[in-house]
Amino acid sequence: MENKSILVIGAGAVGSAFLESSQGIFKKVGIFDGDIISKSNLITQPFYKGCDFSSPVSKVAFAVNKLNSLNSGTEYEGYERYFTEKDFETMKEYDIIADFTDNVNSRKIINNGCVKYRKAAVFVSLNEKEAFLFFYRESACFNCLFRNSIGHVKEGCESIVSAPKNEFVSFLKENIIEFASSKIDGGRIMLFNLSNKRVLSSMLKKDMECEVCVKHAMKNFEDGFLQVCSSGIKFSYGKKLNLKELSSRLSGGILYGEYLIFNQNNKSMLVSLDGDFLFTGYSREEAGRLITALVSQNPKHKE
Ligand SMILES: [Zn+2]
Repeated sequence: MENKSILVIGAGAVGSAFLESSQGIFKKVGIFDGDIISKSNLITQPFYKGCDFSSPVSKVAFAVNKLNSLNSGTEYEGYERYFTEKDFETMKEYDIIADFTDNVNSRKIINNGCVKYRKAAVFVSLNEKEAFLFFYRESACFNCLFRNSIGHVKEGCESIVSAPKNEFVSFLKENIIEFASSKIDGGRIMLFNLSNKRVLSSMLKKDMECEVCVKHAMKNFEDGFLQVCSSGIKFSYGKKLNLKELSSRLSGGILYGEYLIFNQNNKSMLVSLDGDFLFTGYSREEAGRLITALVSQNPKHKE
């Protein structure tokens, strides 16, 4: 981890507990929060004990000061404001984004930035009974998970009445380290039961209608289009294809609106609804064989 950087967004109960345990693990830790420390914070956020309340102190200023003074080998940099779309440029400087915010709006903004810039991210929420972790890395995104119920998601942090327990902080830290070293794939959901320490884990599949994924996939597709055209081979059949069916027959196929993108033998292929096949890395013969196999259920196609 010594060469990795992480951007912590939200330095409340979970964020500050994570920060306290982050020393010496990462090369650089960025901290985003616009809050001023209040006396009532100290119950759930003991990290801020020692704060001088004679004048307003921001959580970020306190955290950066405290953590940098420990000389742990990790460099801490602070951003004394709430994270907005204007901060996507800052996000790009970090390897991993950790979302410890406590509201759905912030999570949606962070998710948009991560999908747009293909940034690995972990979304964390905690309530009295359980903790929720969701990992994103070019996978199903936070919006795929909550797109139909995002207004009803109960946020955890506000309901906490005591500071996060050590077992949970260790669990969080271990899994973020595993994720940073690519031992945990994107799309993984974990539910940690705080009383019996049991972990429920599953993989989330991309929601093919997720507007965040579709928007940015199409943007990336368009950006790569010219590059792909110049090195690829294009076949046009001029007829509508059943992409859903093709996608179900291909491993790893991802459907984005009117396009299907998949990999075969580490070579990428794009298929549009209108039957344009766009290949990269294939020879004409290989591509021809693949097309024949793909459309064999439709013998009327013409090259
Ligand atoms: Zn999505």
